[in-house]
Amino acid sequence: MSNQRSYIIEHMEDAMHEWCALEYKHMLQKIGPDHLYFTSLTDKCMNEGMPEEVKTAKLYQVDVLNLPGVKPEEICLLDPAGTSELAPEDGDKFKYFLFGGILGDHPPRESNFALDRTGELRKLGFAGRRLGPVQMTTDTAVNVTKRVVEDRIPLDEVPYIDYPEIFFSRHESVTMPFRYIAETKTITTKDGEQKTIKKPLMPPGMLDLLKKDNEMTLEF
Ligand code: SAM
Repeated sequence: MSNQRSYIIEHMEDAMHEWCALEYKHMLQKIGPDHLYFTSLTDKCMNEGMPEEVKTAKLYQVDVLNLPGVKPEEICLLDPAGTSELAPEDGDKFKYFLFGGILGDHPPRESNFALDRTGELRKLGFAGRRLGPVQMTTDTAVNVTKRVVEDRIPLDEVPYIDYPEIFFSRHESVTMPFRYIAETKTITTKDGEQKTIKKPLMPPGMLDLLKKDNEMTLEF
């Protein structure tokens, strides 16, 4: 079996919201179109808001159980309530990794933690694995899974940043209720000092979307 695995996103939202579209584009950048499947897409999702580049991936209106040529026993569900953690060897056991295409909130709310919409996929009986105890965005969960099962990096060696606070201005910020992959960046301060900072790996465009949502919230 080649090292490349496939990633299935069961879309669980009524429409293709902007947040979803940005996450899906980010997945496409990381995985490429040939091994990325989106299932349960409604007509509305296909026709309104679906980014053109995401249309190059494998798009299906049927749900994950009805994907042609894919056997349920080849699928591992990434499940925040899973009883064992994802390990590099799972890359040998499973061909497909399944995720809930579930949105974060606009603006992010703590209550999102309590939701267990992945439970709808759990009921279908797939083997399940957890990616640690903290909820990730779906694109983060896909990227972390790829690092573990393809690059063979143990889950606890992936660098993370939890609940990052994103500043829009000196006084306005939002705390994201998710775990992200941490990227390190070296910056030069005003005093010419070199500093290494940790930044959450987010989809391109997400900061602008958060800013726009934040401005809308402030207006009401
Ligand atoms: N509140 C959630 C729910 O309703 O299930 C979590 C949704 S999370 C934003 C979207 C998807 O990312 C989940 O369906 C799951 O496939 C994956 N995911 C996120 N964090 C995870 C974790 N810690 N372990 C396993 N899977 C995770």
